[in-house]
Amino acid sequence: MSSFPNEGLDVHLFGQRLRHVRRARGLTLDALGKRVGRAPSVLSLLENGRREPKLSLIEALASALGVSVDELTRREAPSRRAQLEIELDRAQRDPVYAGLGLPYLHPGPRVPSEAIEHVLALFGELRTQRAKPTATPEEARVANAELRAMMRDRGNYFAEVESAAARALAPVGYSGGALSQGMLLSVVSHHGFAVRYVQDLPRSARSVTDLRNRRIYLRQESLGTHTPRAVLLQTLGHFVLGHSAPADFAEFLRQRVQANYFAAAVLVPEHAAVAFLRHAREDKNLSVEDLRDVFSVSYEMAAHRFTNLATHHLDLRCHFVRNDAGGIIYKAYENDGVVFPADATGAIEGQRMCRFWSGRQIFSAADRFSPHYQYSDTPSGTYWCVASVDPGSERGSAITLGVRFDDARWFRGRDTTRRTKSNCPDPSCCQRPPARLAARWDGMAWPSARAHSHILSALPSGSFPGVDEADIYAFLDAREHD
Ligand SMILES: [Zn+2]
Repeated sequence: MSSFPNEGLDVHLFGQRLRHVRRARGLTLDALGKRVGRAPSVLSLLENGRREPKLSLIEALASALGVSVDELTRREAPSRRAQLEIELDRAQRDPVYAGLGLPYLHPGPRVPSEAIEHVLALFGELRTQRAKPTATPEEARVANAELRAMMRDRGNYFAEVESAAARALAPVGYSGGALSQGMLLSVVSHHGFAVRYVQDLPRSARSVTDLRNRRIYLRQESLGTHTPRAVLLQTLGHFVLGHSAPADFAEFLRQRVQANYFAAAVLVPEHAAVAFLRHAREDKNLSVEDLRDVFSVSYEMAAHRFTNLATHHLDLRCHFVRNDAGGIIYKAYENDGVVFPADATGAIEGQRMCRFWSGRQIFSAADRFSPHYQYSDTPSGTYWCVASVDPGSERGSAITLGVRFDDARWFRGRDTTRRTKSNCPDPSCCQRPPARLAARWDGMAWPSARAHSHILSALPSGSFPGVDEADIYAFLDAREHD
């Protein structure tokens, strides 16, 4: 007989059920062995899940015990205790458990069920922690650096995400300019989702999606860089692009980049934006502000979107950087050869930018909310840049878009007379204090650093780093029947 009545018999479950019924009948292994013509040692192997029984033996055992074959082979544990013993055996065969190097724990009669429950609960938590995409600061920096290299190789253009965005827009009758709220909701409902605006969204999330009821919850407020429209489309992007829960931190970052790209590609559609940009270039009037205004998006999204389209469609290489008033870089991209400060792992996030670059110069400008144009001479060449302070960000951050000197001619602001010289990363440029001050204050200063913990420290653990799952589940549960 080659097949079992129950395809894929679980030998551990079978063993448990066999032992359970045998004991219930008050039979010893010896007594049952005599009834089926087998040695008690064979039955012991069966009960311990160490040997796979043939169907003929299962039938003989069932008959000897006065139960049906189905009763013996059913895929459920005969008791809570038996279930615990099966789970304990499975847990101990898991590589994570085996990696602990502990001796095998036999769940003999002297091991209480409570003890097994404790072991299983601890192991469950251990495995959950190991599986979560957490990252040390080093791992996070390496993942960021790898992602940036990949974006640079593609000129920051993702053809497959552009097509996904174009497909999402096709049914809603978009013909150009800013996407209306009606079209936006139509894009969302076309994918089977409903949008709910709420006041009590968990603090750690920008949006929460109820996959069972296909609802996307958003906070009803204006968020500056992350406008509710962008957040909604970033959320939808994960589903349109077929993302599943990220397996590690690098995948989490990749998914976030793609979802953000999707949002930008829906709000600033490729076809319309490229036509607009080509026209502006003919007029030598390229400008991030105009892109922002025509498509009604944040300045940051407009500048970043420019980097998506510039190389692929306009043959322009460029750089993008976001930094705070202290010069700390939060986000950076380049394919024009500009050299950002970087640590040994190649990470740029968290590094301090040269104080002569436009992203820092703008903070000392008289009018920091107007575009700040300047030429910067650097060791890798001269760049023309436009910087702007994002009024929506909490602590004030500057967004810079820059191109090489020769490409400045296509941009509004090319006639600026501001020019700076930067020798960074040479420490004598701006990082090292002047000799006179150094001599006076060396050893006499004790500053207390302000932590930039949100980008540099170890990211909180969880399937979705930084998100409080307890909050999210409680929120979804409370809302489900609204
Ligand atoms: Zn410098």
